[in-house]
Amino acid sequence: MSEELRNKNIFEQARSYAYEYMDGIEEMDVFPSERSLANMTVFDEILSKESVPAKDVIEQLHKFGSPATIAQTGGRYFGFVNGGAAPVSLGVKWLSDVWDQCGGLYLTSPINAKLETVCENWLKDLFKLPEETVAGFVSGTSMANLCGLSAARFHLLKNLDWDINENGLNGAPEIRIVAHDQVHASVKKTLTMLGYGKKSIEWVASDNQGRIILEELPKLDNSCLVLLQAGNANTGSFDNFDQVCDLANEVGAWVHIDGAFGLWAAASKSLSHLTKGIEKASSWAVDGHKTLNTPYDSGVILCKHRDALVSSLQATGEYIIYSGQRDPLLYTPELSKRSRAIELWATMKYLGRNGIDELVTTFHLRAKQLEQGLSEIGYEIINDVVFNQVLVSSDNDQKTKRIIEYIQKSGECWLGGSTWEGKTAIRVSICSWMTTKNDIKRTVELFKTAEMMVSKTIYQ
Ligand SMILES: *Cc1c(COP(=O)(O)O)cnc(C)c1O
Repeated sequence: MSEELRNKNIFEQARSYAYEYMDGIEEMDVFPSERSLANMTVFDEILSKESVPAKDVIEQLHKFGSPATIAQTGGRYFGFVNGGAAPVSLGVKWLSDVWDQCGGLYLTSPINAKLETVCENWLKDLFKLPEETVAGFVSGTSMANLCGLSAARFHLLKNLDWDINENGLNGAPEIRIVAHDQVHASVKKTLTMLGYGKKSIEWVASDNQGRIILEELPKLDNSCLVLLQAGNANTGSFDNFDQVCDLANEVGAWVHIDGAFGLWAAASKSLSHLTKGIEKASSWAVDGHKTLNTPYDSGVILCKHRDALVSSLQATGEYIIYSGQRDPLLYTPELSKRSRAIELWATMKYLGRNGIDELVTTFHLRAKQLEQGLSEIGYEIINDVVFNQVLVSSDNDQKTKRIIEYIQKSGECWLGGSTWEGKTAIRVSICSWMTTKNDIKRTVELFKTAEMMVSKTIYQ
């Protein structure tokens, strides 16, 4: 193996495959063809007894793996809320992958600890969060939500004279979880992991855009954990942070904001009205790998109460050598972890404030372009397009479903289905830096063709 490290052939080989992939991204099927999917059976092998040459391993991956990928880094992938990958973030990731730093401690990676501190400061600044806010760098918003909610549980119980680290959950005072029915599935999952089942949640109704209805909010007290959202995964809507946080802060409740993709609106001058009042919350979860277009594995928990976050996630293994510098593992559940703040730092530095503003604002402008294009050809736009999400439907559920299938099979672009207020909807998420005006034009054309083709088969 040491031979191969000195001989750069396998890295050259990987590099040439990567370039070939990048160069072909606009032409490849956005979702793999049936044939490419079927070819994945070549991987169904029994683990060989003998070593296989590294060049053969990479070659197989490129030959059969690359065609079975989603063209996520191209301009016409609109599924879920996935985001692209800015070149600088990939380049920096390549280099830092060679470093292979264990990001848990200052002692295991001083550079990662340093760049985490820089990212923490920049994120606070971009989102205009309180000075005392700290950040933990985790795999994604699901994990960030888990961290934020653990911190909330620690803090609320402490205020009710209960040390959860010492006494555990059995017999603890009751925490009232107040959430609206449109919180993301990852928040619901997190609540269950922390011991709060669906029935233990005080569900609050939401309006037709998926925003919490203020008048429906129960009377809060200092045992309440209130869950809000910046960016509904269907409609892209934002909760009324300003007023809910005021009510919560009056009584010492904790507000956590899931802002996986939407928190970035705060970094856009023309969209920051959407995030008004977020600075009054106690914790925030956000992704780098969606709106900011870093590669995957980039989530952040931001928390105003350092003590609560660190106490709730603290490991106490005696082998851990704290340095007196920033030790990243204090702010995350993980010990060994990828030094993921490096790509986040690079992407923010490369774009700068204005570039980040432009990136986020452009997603909105493209979403508006799509909204206009689709309504002109007779589609119904279900949501108010306030951010980057466009929710669309055709004449009836059956037709809408068929249109989704048609588009998904076309290879021309990819988007998913959803249901909104009982109705089948097409969900389009614009969050790749690669999506141009022309991509939106092509997408509108495809919707037009899909409508015609589906009408023919339904009504003939
Ligand atoms: C994507 C998303 C999540 C989950 O984030 P991951 O990074 O996928 O773990 C949570 N909430 C919202 C609103 C999201 O869009």
